[in-house]
Amino acid sequence: MATQGFHEVVLIPGDGIGPEVSDAVRRIFAAAAAPVHWDEHVAGIAAIEGGLDVLPAATLEAIERHQVALKGPCTTPVGEGFTSVNVQLRKRLNLYAAVRPVRSLPGVSTRFENVDLIILRENTEGLYSGVENQLTNDVVMSMKVATKSACTRISHWAFRFATQRRRKKITVFHKANIMKLTDGLFLRCARSVHQTEYPNIDYQETIIDAGCMKMVQDPSQFDVLLLENLYGDVVSDLCAGLVGGLGVVPGANFGDVAAVFEAVHGSAPDIAGKGIANPLALLMSAVMMLNHLSATRGDERCKVAAERIKTAYDQALADGQKTRDLGGDLGTDAFAQAINDRLPPL
Ligand code: ATP
Repeated sequence: MATQGFHEVVLIPGDGIGPEVSDAVRRIFAAAAAPVHWDEHVAGIAAIEGGLDVLPAATLEAIERHQVALKGPCTTPVGEGFTSVNVQLRKRLNLYAAVRPVRSLPGVSTRFENVDLIILRENTEGLYSGVENQLTNDVVMSMKVATKSACTRISHWAFRFATQRRRKKITVFHKANIMKLTDGLFLRCARSVHQTEYPNIDYQETIIDAGCMKMVQDPSQFDVLLLENLYGDVVSDLCAGLVGGLGVVPGANFGDVAAVFEAVHGSAPDIAGKGIANPLALLMSAVMMLNHLSATRGDERCKVAAERIKTAYDQALADGQKTRDLGGDLGTDAFAQAINDRLPPL
């Protein structure tokens, strides 16, 4: 808790569409009287342009101090340049568990109705360990790392999470038929945690290529997905496509101390600065953050604010108020205003 009954939370607006969608979230939080005070810090291109490191020490220290952050997308150059801010943050703060709820929304019609999935992604190792070598001019390699401690840790986290949320089934997507050692270890750890501690939760394993096919045929056969790092990244976007795209899928990264909330989408340079980005994914991430503050700090006001904001965006969508990615014609600000106009009275 912090000054005058507000929770101090780090806000990193990020790059590309980040500042636009962050502003929208700020406006909605102010209108909803969410008890949050933003401590704004930079990372990514915004930090480099200000003459700072891509992940400045002050930003990291602020998150360590407040233990909660809302982060806009940070651009990662393809093929060259600095290490991804997202990867660095997850490693430095040991944010080992990513949670991405993928749910159908009112008024957003897609191929499937009533999609309700939760993607749990191991966030610290796999092919994102960043160990890449140039063997010769023409031969490069990338190391996929799996450790028993990290695989067991995410398995515990996943089964505990599923139990708390009263979810019925966990499915691991893997490629252990090819990557026998790394994915094999991931499977062994998940199986062991299931068998020894959580036999009441249904547990399944699916080879990832077949799993992706099954997912787009009928997502209702899945409930909670548990994936190593790269698979979690790819399958998150696949599943976002089931419910309306990247504009509507939120996310959170948890460690034992800190939690960083961020949309699944990236900085979307193709639409940056045009005022047309959908702020919903970041707003939904911010609502997850309010629920986290309510659960960890016992502040009922956060829960109330989260519920009012959710009611308002559900109503806005049901009323056909949508940004372009969802087939509507509203800009970022107009959509934020449509949400504010529908906030239930306190
Ligand atoms: P990264 O590599 O940073 O993860 P990405 O490759 O996933 O990024 P995004 O930046 O997420 O790419 O964008 C992918 C596509 O989705 C783009 O065409 C972009 O315009 C669209 N998109 C992403 N987020 C939004 C949003 N909030 N509103 C509207 N369109 C979006």
